[in-house]
Amino acid sequence: MYCPFCRNPDSRVVDSRMADDGSAIRRRRQCPECGRRFTTVETTSLSVIKRSGVGEPFSRSKVINGVRKACQGRPVSEDDLAMLAQEVEEQIRSSGAAEIDAHEVGLVILGPLQKLDEVAYLRFASVYQAFESLEDFESAIALLRHEAVEGAKGASGPKSSEKSPL
Ligand SMILES: [Zn+2]
Repeated sequence: MYCPFCRNPDSRVVDSRMADDGSAIRRRRQCPECGRRFTTVETTSLSVIKRSGVGEPFSRSKVINGVRKACQGRPVSEDDLAMLAQEVEEQIRSSGAAEIDAHEVGLVILGPLQKLDEVAYLRFASVYQAFESLEDFESAIALLRHEAVEGAKGASGPKSSEKSPL
């Protein structure tokens, strides 16, 4: 790890601490050459296994590209997509798995995508769960309606307060 300030190839760890959820370790390092400090974050590597059997590093941008098409014409912003990809990564990492099938990544996407936009969710689900008939759509929509009713029962306050202001 090069010092980001002077490119010195050596650094000294002055502090290590685990992230609250235990998924990462942050190390505070000091460069013996220029004396400046910087932080490195260590996480487990996460591989996505493609259908061909080849593994590749998990990538949020691939998740975003995967759902972008389903979100065409929908009120979904780039920020929404970035948040979704982050949620997907956190969900996979919290499972503790070091690798995951590409198909399973698609299934993990369904949860946050449903919360984001139901039409985009249906489009995406129809591909990932291989909907074959109108009945498949009908049962998925029935499930969405049911969850909407259940959600309305438990909801309190205006809907616009759901999104945290960043
Ligand atoms: Zn340095």
